[in-house]
Amino acid sequence: MFDGRELARKLFMNAAHYSGLASAVAPSLSGIGTILMLHRVNDEPATELGLNRHLTITPRFLDTVLTTMKRMGYTFVSMDEAVECVSRGSPQARFATITLDDGYLDNLTHAVPVFEAHGTPFTIYVAPALTEGRVGLWWEMVEEIVTRRDWLVYLTDNGKFSFDCATPEGKREAARHLQDYLTTQVPEQDQQAWLAELMAPGRSTVARSRCSDIMNWDEIRRIAAHPLGTIGAHTVHHYNLRRLALGDAEREIAASRDIIAIETGTSPRHFAYPYGYEKAVGEREVRMVREAGFASAVTTRHGMLQAEHRNHLHALPRLSVNGRYQQIGYVRTMLSGLTVLAESRKRLVTV
Ligand SMILES: [Zn+2]
Repeated sequence: MFDGRELARKLFMNAAHYSGLASAVAPSLSGIGTILMLHRVNDEPATELGLNRHLTITPRFLDTVLTTMKRMGYTFVSMDEAVECVSRGSPQARFATITLDDGYLDNLTHAVPVFEAHGTPFTIYVAPALTEGRVGLWWEMVEEIVTRRDWLVYLTDNGKFSFDCATPEGKREAARHLQDYLTTQVPEQDQQAWLAELMAPGRSTVARSRCSDIMNWDEIRRIAAHPLGTIGAHTVHHYNLRRLALGDAEREIAASRDIIAIETGTSPRHFAYPYGYEKAVGEREVRMVREAGFASAVTTRHGMLQAEHRNHLHALPRLSVNGRYQQIGYVRTMLSGLTVLAESRKRLVTV
């Protein structure tokens, strides 16, 4: 697939790395540490359309990232220690902590062996309804729908939409529209049923796409008991909190904490906002999570940890280790803080 934005970003990151610009700006922009964001770690080939390719990196690339960052002087710490480092300010060495969202099974089978080899702590944020298969991964369902169809039609309040999905370009266009409609127009609580109807009209069962790819509670308990592992909360149903009424959002946050506490025996201290972008987390959500008693919360905003984050422990940015950018030069450029400045036009990223 040709993606102009992706290509431009890659050219920029390569140029910044090889010209020395990234190293030159690093001392002023790279901050005191970083939180890496991962989703899936495995060797499976990408799907033909590759719509979710950004979510998967290989174990080998993970190993390269950890090796390189250690050589760069990073110390890998747990999320508890990262919060301590930010709160305390000016730690001796730059630190990094690793987070993985959603609780994919390959975290246990493919990522943990790499973390063990390096002795690096990690945090996995889980949403109990995903864990229990009560909700499916809609981003994979969308890909499945457009992959299977040559023609896609659906009714909305604004009329009927139809897409020719006979070509890869048509499928991508349909997926973009479907994703946009689903995440902005369909209420969070109705998304699963709406997608199920689209996948198999007339059947009332909630669609469950590839639940086997997600860890069950026994597997999550193994992570919780692992000396390097921490389990964090990610709402119950993986809802966009900003699209929920106040009471519903508060319940999602508190119930995810309580269910995880019951299932693992430990109350989670750290939280990740589902989606984590601007339209999914704002000041209201930050306040709710802080008041729920979590020690930290992470977004998906692109940013380095700065000393000032001690006043923003519930709006911490991360660096996405993205499956579309599996070259160590890209990661090095991101770690310089240059891409943060380029994308956000500021050094301190919160919400
Ligand atoms: Zn998530």
